[in-house]
Amino acid sequence: MRRSLVTATAQKHAGALVALIALEAIGAGVSVLTPLPLQAAIDSISGKSKLVSWLPASWTNSLLTLALASVGFAIIQQVINMASSIVATRTGQKVTVELRGQCFDAAQKRSIASHLTSGTADALYRIQTDTQALEWILLDGALPVLTATLSIIAMTAALLTLNLQLALVALILGPILVVIGRTTRPALKSTARAAKQQESQALGIIESALSGLQTVKAYNLRSYTLSRYTQIAESAVARRIRIAWLDSSLGAAVQILCAIGLAGALYIGADAAAHGTLSPGQVILGIHYLGQIYTPIRVIGKKWASLQTQLVSLERIDFLLQTDTDVPVPKNPQAIPPTVQDISLTNVSFAYDEAHPILQDVSITIRKGDVIALTGPTGIGKSTLIGLLLRLIDPVSGNVSINGIPATQLDPESLRGLYATVLQETVLFPGTIRENLLLAQPSASEDDIQAAIDAAALRSAINTFPLGLDTVVGERGAKLSGGERQRVGLARAFLRDAPILLLDEPTSALDPATEEGVLDALKRLMVGRTVVMVTHREAPTRLAGRVYRLESGRLCEQNISQMSNSTPTIDNAIQQIL
Ligand code: ATP
Ligand code: MG
Repeated sequence: MRRSLVTATAQKHAGALVALIALEAIGAGVSVLTPLPLQAAIDSISGKSKLVSWLPASWTNSLLTLALASVGFAIIQQVINMASSIVATRTGQKVTVELRGQCFDAAQKRSIASHLTSGTADALYRIQTDTQALEWILLDGALPVLTATLSIIAMTAALLTLNLQLALVALILGPILVVIGRTTRPALKSTARAAKQQESQALGIIESALSGLQTVKAYNLRSYTLSRYTQIAESAVARRIRIAWLDSSLGAAVQILCAIGLAGALYIGADAAAHGTLSPGQVILGIHYLGQIYTPIRVIGKKWASLQTQLVSLERIDFLLQTDTDVPVPKNPQAIPPTVQDISLTNVSFAYDEAHPILQDVSITIRKGDVIALTGPTGIGKSTLIGLLLRLIDPVSGNVSINGIPATQLDPESLRGLYATVLQETVLFPGTIRENLLLAQPSASEDDIQAAIDAAALRSAINTFPLGLDTVVGERGAKLSGGERQRVGLARAFLRDAPILLLDEPTSALDPATEEGVLDALKRLMVGRTVVMVTHREAPTRLAGRVYRLESGRLCEQNISQMSNSTPTIDNAIQQIL
């Protein structure tokens, strides 16, 4: 997959990559030509050769032409550099943003369980930081290595035509460098893996502290969170230092080998010049070519450690793109029924982990128009049951079906389109209240929005905000009170206009008077709809046709006439005392 990600991206941006390779090849050609004026000038001074025949006859004019040629080569080289830098930046940025988009999408598709296991910060690190690896591998890794190889081939060929012994000095380095590269690779990769894991953990501490800033302040946790961050971040730094140590040792080994090679070339070249096999200009040319061979070798040596780190990033991206996407999506999903006659849970059992069963053998049929209330102790599995209906999770055994069609045979996104949901915790997205409402129904008219605001008893709150519906809600809606957030969530459900309402404690954050208002509106909304409502409170159960209690993983229907006794509330208690 990693290789296919690199090849697929390379294919997509083939035009730009070919342009970059062409620019680099022209650049390599120009660098072969660059020292020629120097050689011609030096050899003409020492009288070893005449200036080239097509140059002007006068020696001064010839020298001037050679000097102009040098400047010309330098200008061409710089123009090539500028063009390739612009094409590389444009391509690199595009590659990164596209990959970030893919990873973001994959992170949203992942099952809730696997997302909770690795955490938000880990996904953020992979999306924001690890994705830069592909750009690096294509442009700073593969391309320079390719052009370095081209340059090495060109220079070695030039050197071979000049002197065989000098060319052998260049070639002998190859196998030594391969051995060094291979032996350092495992240590570099495992250290990079550990460093990245710790860096994302450190990011996780920052992320959870800042998103829970009120708790951090209320419990004076600033120095605690900072010291946890510092501890993990320092440990990551230690790994980075180890990578730098391996990197610099590798770099030093390559530099020393190159220096030995150049010294050998100097010895061979000087000896050849002394014996008249080579001219002084040819020795300088030979050493220049050797230098041109060693420069890309040094570049590869320098990039080796970074390349291993970037490959680790690709592994991490792979994990995000490949592992555990949402609940299984059927290849040929059945059509969503136009009218939902019934939703059934048949012998459904569920556990997040085998040791702790949450639901055991639960069966219930919810028919069109039913209003079902679900009560039960906290932590017993009510929201889990809502998650099963929405197919956020699948049962361990048993099945959920709609009109007799197993939910597993329906497309999860289309299935979720049947529901208007108010989850236990209403999460709002950064933006205004209006934008948050429109998320539920982008085509909603102003009248629809106003009606939903009234239905969710949100009008009085909106009127107190100077910017009304255009009030910015802050991150996760943090600028609104819990009750206001909950009512925005309810207004979203009103706007959604779906045949089934799933309400997970829809009034838990409201005072009794507001709750009554919302329940009145809910009564109107429920007409013609199927409703499943989780609640700890007595008031909402009055709207229900059937009330079920979840206890010890099992579902039992309650006798509504006895409800006020079986589900004690403060109101009941006060009434009984009076
Ligand atoms: P409450 O009334 O407090 O909202 P609930 O009945 O809705 O409780 P659930 O949220 O369904 O309870 O949780 C049921 C059990 O499953 C709890 O013990 C909870 O700790 C556990 N649980 C919930 N979500 C997960 C998860 N993603 N991974 C592991 N365990 C989980
Ligand atoms: Mg719950």
